[in-house]
Amino acid sequence: MTTIFANLQAVKARIAAACAAAGRDAATVKLLAVSKTWPAGCVREAAEAGQRAFGESYVQEALPKLAALADLALEWHFIGPLQSNKTRLVAENFAWVHSVDREKIATRLSEQRPAHLPPLNVCLEVNLSGEASKSGCAPEEALALARCVAALPRLRLRGLMTIPEPTPDSALARRRFAALRELCERLQAEGLALDTLSMGMSNDLEAAILEGATIVRVGTAIFGERVKP
Ligand SMILES: *Cc1c(COP(=O)(O)O)cnc(C)c1O
Repeated sequence: MTTIFANLQAVKARIAAACAAAGRDAATVKLLAVSKTWPAGCVREAAEAGQRAFGESYVQEALPKLAALADLALEWHFIGPLQSNKTRLVAENFAWVHSVDREKIATRLSEQRPAHLPPLNVCLEVNLSGEASKSGCAPEEALALARCVAALPRLRLRGLMTIPEPTPDSALARRRFAALRELCERLQAEGLALDTLSMGMSNDLEAAILEGATIVRVGTAIFGERVKP
């Protein structure tokens, strides 16, 4: 058994245990394997172990990898910061984007989504810690942005995503996840059909699942420690 295979089994066991603790069906939580910085061979190994959904943060790094793995039926999610000049490549190559945080980006993605592909699944990234440097819209902006995305023809609004500020305080991370769930419930009460909460990573997926995560984005616990570029 390879390391990646064993790590995947361990992460799935953590998800199952967290779901059991939360009284949730494990089938309601999807594992997104975050393969940024890891070569195509590592993704192939995870795919051979049954993993289908993969997340990438950098367009230039991702595209050769997608091409090298085109023989596999994988589902690619873009989860990194998104600049206007990269929207076309994302619209053409990915099934999901988790990091839409402004109308301009949403409009471009819809205009650039090729007609032969299904609508692009979109999560709005919300910045719940109020750090000026971080990406993500403010919680107060989420309703207007959600209405904008929901009205765009080539996008399918799915839900919300957040990356809590790095903290050793697990109670703080849990409060951020609860805040994202509550924001999602407020948007649902406004009539928006959201079915996705993208939250939780290698260190905090249990807290995220307890607060309702439906997609956990896990890199390190599957592929190992990333080397900083
Ligand atoms: C890198 C990354 C992850 C994975 O983080 P790990 O701690 O390695 O599990 C999840 N989400 C986003 C947006 C990332 O950029």
